[in-house]
Amino acid sequence: MNSLLEKAFSFQIIETKKLNGYESENYLIKTVDNQYIFKKYPYSEDLKSLIQAENKVLLFLSKKYLNRFPNPIKTIDGFYVKILIIEGEKYICRMLSFLDGKFFGEVKHTKKMLESFGLFLAEMNLQLMQFNNDTIKARKSPWDIQYLHLNKKYIDDIENAKDRSLVQYFFNQFEENVVPLIPSLRKSIIHNDTNEWNVLIKNGKISSVIDFGDLAYSSLINEVAIAMMYASYDKEDPLEWAVIILKSYHKLLPLQEDEISILYYLIATKLCVSVCNSAHSRKVNPNNEYALVSEESAWRMLHEWLVLSPLHVENTFRKSLGLLVHDQKPLKEIIKRRHQVISPIFSLSYDKPVRMERAAFQYMYDVYGETYLDAYNNIPHVGYSHPRVVSSGKKQMSKLNTNTRYLYDVLPEYAEKLLIKFPDKLNKIYFVNSGSEASDLAIKLAFSHTKLNRVMVVENGYHGHTQRGIDISDYKFSNKKGQGQKDYIIKAPMPNTFKGKYTNDDGQAGRMYATDAIKIMKNSGSSVSAFISEPILGCGGQVILAKGYLKEIYSAIRSQGGVCISDEVQTGFGRLGHKYWGFEMHNVVPDIVIIGKPMANGHPIGAVVTTSEIAESFSKGVEFFSSFGGNPVSCAIGMSVLDVIEEENLQENAKVVGSYYMSLFKDLQKKHTCIGDVRGFGLFIGIEIVKEHSKEPDTKLAQRIKNELRNKKILVGTDGPFDNVIKSKPPLCFTKENAASVVSNIELIINKL
Ligand code: PMP
Repeated sequence: MNSLLEKAFSFQIIETKKLNGYESENYLIKTVDNQYIFKKYPYSEDLKSLIQAENKVLLFLSKKYLNRFPNPIKTIDGFYVKILIIEGEKYICRMLSFLDGKFFGEVKHTKKMLESFGLFLAEMNLQLMQFNNDTIKARKSPWDIQYLHLNKKYIDDIENAKDRSLVQYFFNQFEENVVPLIPSLRKSIIHNDTNEWNVLIKNGKISSVIDFGDLAYSSLINEVAIAMMYASYDKEDPLEWAVIILKSYHKLLPLQEDEISILYYLIATKLCVSVCNSAHSRKVNPNNEYALVSEESAWRMLHEWLVLSPLHVENTFRKSLGLLVHDQKPLKEIIKRRHQVISPIFSLSYDKPVRMERAAFQYMYDVYGETYLDAYNNIPHVGYSHPRVVSSGKKQMSKLNTNTRYLYDVLPEYAEKLLIKFPDKLNKIYFVNSGSEASDLAIKLAFSHTKLNRVMVVENGYHGHTQRGIDISDYKFSNKKGQGQKDYIIKAPMPNTFKGKYTNDDGQAGRMYATDAIKIMKNSGSSVSAFISEPILGCGGQVILAKGYLKEIYSAIRSQGGVCISDEVQTGFGRLGHKYWGFEMHNVVPDIVIIGKPMANGHPIGAVVTTSEIAESFSKGVEFFSSFGGNPVSCAIGMSVLDVIEEENLQENAKVVGSYYMSLFKDLQKKHTCIGDVRGFGLFIGIEIVKEHSKEPDTKLAQRIKNELRNKKILVGTDGPFDNVIKSKPPLCFTKENAASVVSNIELIINKL
């Protein structure tokens, strides 16, 4: 090769050193009196015209700024680009001037350096905005953010399913928030890849930008976003550094409102492009380490970026540029407006309610730019705005949603998929729209099958807000303001081993509680149609039914002609970690199961699952019809939730993170006597707050912890008959770090008491 080059450029090479390269092979060529960069690319006509276009850009820039950019060097016969046959292969070859300096990626960054970065880019862009080139204009590259969709096929190359979802989430955000603005954004030829190995530093400032191989005709703001991303993705506080570039760029080349408004999404998008291409490179060429250099940092920043509220980021950028931040009405006004049309009986959480704007996975963002860690909500089971759930709903909605009286395949498909999760004998399903409707229907099924009409419930149980739901929910009817217990209801005491009548949870307490309940049932007169209970009493304060209790009760209920209903609205779908359904941990198989809440990740749906015999009895009565229950969209969404639980291994995550979370709480309990009990399974946990050295509920303290946590941007709830049990039942994508953050913040609050 050397002799070929010596001939073509008429110089004498004293040393050749191979450098890193992505698309090309790059060499540092040392001659007697100079240094050059030689690049050779596998031959193609398209690439040749692109390289020629790139040379034109470099020559144009060098006219104004000599030595800031690589300068193309002509061969002695006058060509900037030459086709050479090297060792029998045809290559596109070009020589560039060598620019001295250290890489941005190998020096300690300073504020002054980043200021010069912003200024450098603005100066370069001001020049490029005056340059036109049809080849670059026609280029559609996956590295150009505006063509993000070209990277879609690489998402599947990302090995970890949760990471794939994160990337897909940001792809969706790009579609929603950026794509509609693209036609009205300023466009220009941009460098498009100011990564840390394409930027050179001299005397603490940016001296050169090299490698114009990704030139694009794209939104001008993409140039800024890319630089902001690379300058901040290995920093503890990325925003602080990103802002420096933004400010100095804006000083020379002022940005427009729309451009600033999408920077959050563009930075995330650039990170996604980066990780997608790294994943693809790894797959096709696992040995090309250069392609993977920034992968780890990009992933880290992407995960951190999710924790930042898009509004907070936009406001930080706006503030730094001296622009007014998006202001919001005070909370008081918002609450007043709500109460003009919505009764306060439809209650809000926290002394200071949270006004939400958007949410992603386990994070929620309010309208004031705050991010909340959601340690409370079990409805967004697989995470808020999960891309799989969003796209299944969107797709089905654009295809078919209709009256449930027609045949459509997604209904049996979903039903079959869901029923696989149940014991064989539970093989019929009715879809409804909520947990309340499910409990209502379950009682109807029981009555029609048993021809009896009395229901046995558990103290503090909750099953729904319909009239029937309230009838069977001690949590509601025994409330001070409640309707009281109806005649057809029999109540069994709560089999609570923390502070009930029997506390020995080795099976003995369960048997004793069951014996008491059965006695109550027998003394109550006529037979009972149904026994309904949650496996862990959620509203009752996360109380796990004593061991062995259900087995005894189920057998007694059945022997007198009744059926057993398990309310899995809160406990189902893998939340408990070790079991998919709560009844499994009690070693029983119910006759009827009701499900809801997490089933479609927040989309309203519920279901009743039962046996063929019970279904047959019910079929003899009046027809069953629900306009929306099991509509195509609900089914499609429900199915996507099942898929995500499997693919992202969320049941296992609930188990692993849940047991870590529990262990942290147990450690905390050892240090603080106000924590009377820590109980639960997987990501379904209750912390009972009590008065010191007693088991008396400390409602005030529990409320204080909940509200102070809210002020620290962590969401938990409280429940139980005394509202003194802190409940944590977060989306199943919750991490160990999230768990540690909740526990350490609770500790901070307790320590200050
Ligand atoms: N059963 C249980 C155990 C519940 O927790 C709830 C809701 N909190 C319901 C039923 C009622 O579900 P929905 O609010 O969807 O009607």
